Amino acid sequence: MTDPFFHPVSGFDLPRYAGVPTFMRLPHLGLDHPRIGEVDIGLIGAPWDGGTTNRPGQRHGPRQLRDASTMLRAQHGTTGIRPFELVNCADLGDVPPNPADLQDSLMRFEKFYARVRDLGIIPLTAGGDHLVSLPALRALKGSAPLAMIHFDSHTDLFHEYFNGSRYTHGTPFRRAVEEGLLDPGQVIQIGIRGTTYDGEDRTFAKSTGIRVITIEEFFARGIDDVMAEARGVVGEARTYVSYDIDFVDPAFAPGTGTPEVGGPSSFQALEVVRRLAGLNIVGADLVEVSPPFDHSGGTAWLGASILFELLCVLSTSPGIRKHPA
Ligand code: MN
Ligand code: MN
Repeated sequence: MTDPFFHPVSGFDLPRYAGVPTFMRLPHLGLDHPRIGEVDIGLIGAPWDGGTTNRPGQRHGPRQLRDASTMLRAQHGTTGIRPFELVNCADLGDVPPNPADLQDSLMRFEKFYARVRDLGIIPLTAGGDHLVSLPALRALKGSAPLAMIHFDSHTDLFHEYFNGSRYTHGTPFRRAVEEGLLDPGQVIQIGIRGTTYDGEDRTFAKSTGIRVITIEEFFARGIDDVMAEARGVVGEARTYVSYDIDFVDPAFAPGTGTPEVGGPSSFQALEVVRRLAGLNIVGADLVEVSPPFDHSGGTAWLGASILFELLCVLSTSPGIRKHPA
């Protein structure tokens, strides 16, 4: 019998620094590939930074994250999970942006994610700036608004920038609530900190019932307590997980557009993801890695490691489709 899994290239067959880099050394299957129907979890690059309001470069994130992810091995060091033997994973390539047109890009992205959804594939996206979460949510919503667990130093709940621009990486979840993609009562944002223009985003969160966990509360209560609350907020609902790398302290993740000091360490950055095990997650992303500001390459390596943590959680999720037997 032939092996039904798409395996990463083993570091014993070809050293991990060699070969063409795909996410986690998985095979690259475009959406028209004859075996695309066998994929359960698809890693997707979203090379986009047209929603960035300050320092750009996230359009280069997917390629850098692919390269960094070749460092990963097939087995989780703590839990022993071997995701590539539980579900079928592949690199689906990049969503196609139009760097000259934001709205056209959002439509192209939504179309791509709708095809992924129709194929029954769970998308795990590497951004890109945080606006890329919006078209993913539009495609994944289905018949009822989604729940969301959101790691970030910012709420991304602002109404508009620059007198009327409503689509930036600071506004995706405001739009998502307005469009009925998210149930605000089942949304929790963790790690919020830093200076702001004003408190308009927090007022919106309060008025709609979005739970905001500031970094002070996060450290005062600890990971176990905060993540237990997060699990309670989303319950068994279909849940999207969105992870902005600027959740992590810039000492560990300087390569991002809008860093905020006083954040979690790289160890804590991984620990919070492990606490998502068992939830009904329908999609996830890791966004805002900006290679031009990542002088050591350490931000991309942390980002790739967070993607692997997310993959391990997704691969053991109770509702996950296993590859066709
Ligand atoms: Mn963000
Ligand atoms: Mn942020």
